[in-house]
Amino acid sequence: MNAEIIAVGSELLLGQIVNTNARFLSQQLAELGVDVYFHTVVGDNPDRLKAAIDIAEKRSEIIIFTGGLGPTKDDLTKETIARHIGTELAHDETALESIEDYFKRTNRVMTENNRKQALVLKGSEVLPNDFGMAPGMVMKTGGHIYMLLPGPPKEMEPMFSRYGRQALASATGSTEQIVSRVLRFFGIGEAALETEIIDLIDAQSNPTIAPLAGDGEVTLRLTAKHLDTAAAEAMLDEVEAEIRGRVGQFIYGYGGSSLLEELTKVLKARQLTITAAESLTGGLFQQEITSISGASSVFKGGVVCYANEIKRDVVGVRQETLDQHGAVSEECARELAENSARIFGTDIGISFTGVAGPDELEGKPVGTVYIGMAVAGKPTVVEKLTLAGGRAANRVRAVKFGCYYLLK
Ligand code: ATP
Ligand code: MG
Repeated sequence: MNAEIIAVGSELLLGQIVNTNARFLSQQLAELGVDVYFHTVVGDNPDRLKAAIDIAEKRSEIIIFTGGLGPTKDDLTKETIARHIGTELAHDETALESIEDYFKRTNRVMTENNRKQALVLKGSEVLPNDFGMAPGMVMKTGGHIYMLLPGPPKEMEPMFSRYGRQALASATGSTEQIVSRVLRFFGIGEAALETEIIDLIDAQSNPTIAPLAGDGEVTLRLTAKHLDTAAAEAMLDEVEAEIRGRVGQFIYGYGGSSLLEELTKVLKARQLTITAAESLTGGLFQQEITSISGASSVFKGGVVCYANEIKRDVVGVRQETLDQHGAVSEECARELAENSARIFGTDIGISFTGVAGPDELEGKPVGTVYIGMAVAGKPTVVEKLTLAGGRAANRVRAVKFGCYYLLK
């Protein structure tokens, strides 16, 4: 099977947004064993969209559209496709109910435009939108499979993963169940990870193993196909066990959750509270943890202690420590972590002090970072890092390493 992705949206042509939908879908389709031969981008214009469909139909079996399913006048994707394949649009009851429900819940008045979002191609399989209003669709007709997905990635990606993959599999006549599992790694680079398991990657076609790296974290997506879901799960268990046997110490979680989300989950489960005293990270840890919903039960508050006198006067780092060892030191990180936990009355205090760059500090090179971790009932631990990134990357990495150490 081969596919073409048509992204609809004038913003894409104007360079205002990047076509991340095509990237996401291409990765997903590769996993499903569907070859993607073409990416097309077309503006919000029915004639040019029709022209793009004409071309796509000549060369591709599966045509996937993203964008233009919304309620506004420039959202023309389904109207154009309906006219093109000679089908009507009809209200989908389930979609209409969930839109009405949304407006009731948010106390807003529903307009005729919003009703338009519940219109679907007659005869299509409707894909629920768990994060928005416009439903997706899969339609099989005239030797082609058309899939319509919303534009916003936060709606489109879960829709495809949760419903689209399976709908596509059944539309292509495959009765196989596709089950995937994402393993999350930290503390090992993509290249090093690949080296450790390259024989598995090369040898396996079912399950497939697909690495993906970003922001210091690496994920492996394992995908198994089998007629029976339980059997597919068992295949995943087996390959996961093999991977764990080799690089298990770097695995910190599953699925979409970040290191900090994972940490928050663990702290919540153990009913532990945390505070942070941040120098080089300037509050990044606290910003990130407070962006997680439900963080209030674990995070009480913390300090940004950038200048030495704040480390001393607010967090109680001894002048002697600063004079003898400097702010970028194991000793300072230890006092920051222990004192902040005491001041804020938390079970855990974490501290970040170091040289983010671009200039060295106290004669210590850029990338030197000390992370202090004071955990109630345990001896305080200080980890030293030597990071090689730029200023921004070093700060992000420092926070991630802090979470990683705490998780271990
Ligand atoms: P809405 O209901 O929000 O109008 P829609 O399905 O009509 O959704 P569009 O109006 O085409 O989709 O796009 C809405 C937003 O989704 C865009 O402003 C953009 O932020 C994002 N978006 C659309 N297409 C893409 C794409 N190909 N890649 C990444 N983001 C996209
Ligand atoms: Mg729109």
